[in-house]
Amino acid sequence: MVARIIAGVATSHIPAVGAAWDNGKTEEPYWQPVFAGFERSKEWIAEVKPDVCIVVYNDHMSAFSLEIVPTFAIGCAAEFPIADEGWGPRPVPPVKGHPELASHLVQSLVLDEFDITIVNKMAVDHGLTVPLTLMFGQPKEWPCPVIPLAVNVVVYPVPTGHRCYRLGQAIRKAVGSFDQNLRVVIFGTGGMSHQLQGPRAGLINRPFDTRFLDNLTKDPEANVGIPHLEYLREAGSEGIEMVMWLIMRGACIASITCRRRTPRSATSSWKTSHLMRTVEHEDLRGRTRRLRSETSRCAEAHLRR
Ligand code: FE
Repeated sequence: MVARIIAGVATSHIPAVGAAWDNGKTEEPYWQPVFAGFERSKEWIAEVKPDVCIVVYNDHMSAFSLEIVPTFAIGCAAEFPIADEGWGPRPVPPVKGHPELASHLVQSLVLDEFDITIVNKMAVDHGLTVPLTLMFGQPKEWPCPVIPLAVNVVVYPVPTGHRCYRLGQAIRKAVGSFDQNLRVVIFGTGGMSHQLQGPRAGLINRPFDTRFLDNLTKDPEANVGIPHLEYLREAGSEGIEMVMWLIMRGACIASITCRRRTPRSATSSWKTSHLMRTVEHEDLRGRTRRLRSETSRCAEAHLRR
C-alpha cells in the first residue's frame, strides 16, 4: 500500500478569521455567516479523517524575512511552534509534522527538478493555522500531522501559476510513491482578489474570483496560464496568493468533483470563498478512491505604465 491524495481543500487564510475565533466572535452577526459556511466542511473532514494534511500557504514574514526568501519550502520537522505575529501566538496547539513523508516529498520533488528548501525549524503563522481552525475547530491537539509547504508570494519574483500547478502534479506523484498506507488531504490557501494597501485597498473582483473557481474544477489549465500582471490588475496586489490554490489543484486528479463551495458572506468585505473538492475514481484494481505582503511596488508601477 502506498500513500495517496484523497481530496483537496481551498480556503482563505485571512488572519481576522483566526482572531474572530480566538476572541469568541463566531456567533456575532458579522462573522456568523462565515463560520456557518464551514460547518459542513468540518463535518466532512471529520468523517474523512485524513492521516496527514499538506498545507500550502505563505509565510507572512514570521518564519522568514527579507534576508532569506525561499520560493518553495517544506517543513520537515517533527513539530512547528505557533508564530508570534505581534499579539502573542494564537491559542492553538503546536503543529505536529510528519518528517518521514515530508523528507520523501523533498527527495522526490528535487529529483523531479523542483528546488525545494528543506526547513527543519520553523514557526507557522496564520497562513497555516487559520485554515486548520476553519476545518478542525480548535481541538486540544490537531487531529493529524501536518506538512507545511510555504510558497513565496511576498517578494517578487514569485512563482508562476504554471510552476505551481506542475509542482502540485509532482506532489501527487511523490505522495503516491511513499510506501505507507496514508490518506492525504492537501490544502491550497490564500485570499482570492484582495489588496491591502494603496489607492485600490479593499479591492474585490467577484467576476474574476468566480471564473477562477469555476475553472479550478473544470478547466484548471485556463487558470494555470494567468500571468502575474493579470493577477495584479484583476485580483489586486495580494491576489497573487491564488497561485497556491493551483498547487492543490495540480495534486488532484484531472477530473474532479466540487463537493462544496461556500460563497462569500454577503456582509463581509473580504474573502471567505472556500471550496472543497473530493475526487473519486476507480483505480486499476477496481477500488474506489475518494478522491504577501508588500507586493513588489515595481510590479505595480509596471502595471501603471
Ligand atoms: Fe496571506
